[in-house]
Amino acid sequence: MPHTSPSNVYASEYYKKDFVRFNERLGTDNIEFKSLVPKMYLPCFLKDTMGYKTNAMVSLPVLNPKTLINTGFDSYRLMDSHNDMRAMVRAMTFSEEQPNFYLLNVGETHYPYALPSEPANEWPKISGVHGIFKHLDDHIVGGKLLEQKEKHFDQAKLRTLRQRQIDAVRYLDTVVEELLDTVPKNTYVTITADHGELFGEEGYFGHGPVQHDKVFEVPFVEGKIR
Ligand SMILES: [Zn+2]
Repeated sequence: MPHTSPSNVYASEYYKKDFVRFNERLGTDNIEFKSLVPKMYLPCFLKDTMGYKTNAMVSLPVLNPKTLINTGFDSYRLMDSHNDMRAMVRAMTFSEEQPNFYLLNVGETHYPYALPSEPANEWPKISGVHGIFKHLDDHIVGGKLLEQKEKHFDQAKLRTLRQRQIDAVRYLDTVVEELLDTVPKNTYVTITADHGELFGEEGYFGHGPVQHDKVFEVPFVEGKIR
């Protein structure tokens, strides 16, 4: 979790300690809170203040290069496949003059929790979830939402989906090994998904308008290769 909801502490005290950790993360000793002002955005800070070459490769179209996330990057690419981190690792290039930063947004852990080797016609399909963006407007006519029959979650199917996500995380561990063999020293890498997922906990599936801890448990790894 990025934060732990600490009690009995003022935000300023908490953030002070939090920002000092950027020194630990980046292997420096001169980063203060004001170093990130005014943009307050890590890629801009790395590029403008720390002299990094900043790169992003994203899997999920919701983070495509037209979104605001694409600020402060020298290169920003939406990958062809939503679930192929290995393809990212193999496409990485590195500046020899500058330290490099890579943001890798991975999608293997995202619904439908599929590895790149699995053909799309074998992915599990859940009505109302699969291809949600393409079909979001299908049920709106004249600005009004059409009535739909309620759908209930199938517990056995949810267990299978949860296991698929666990398998996806295991698979990604092997891709991280390849990443560590590929990346040169002085490279800072953040690997992240876009949210956590629910598999029937307290009557929720997936993610969305849900304030549940599981949605905030985002697969996330970061570190600097030194
Ligand atoms: Zn998503």
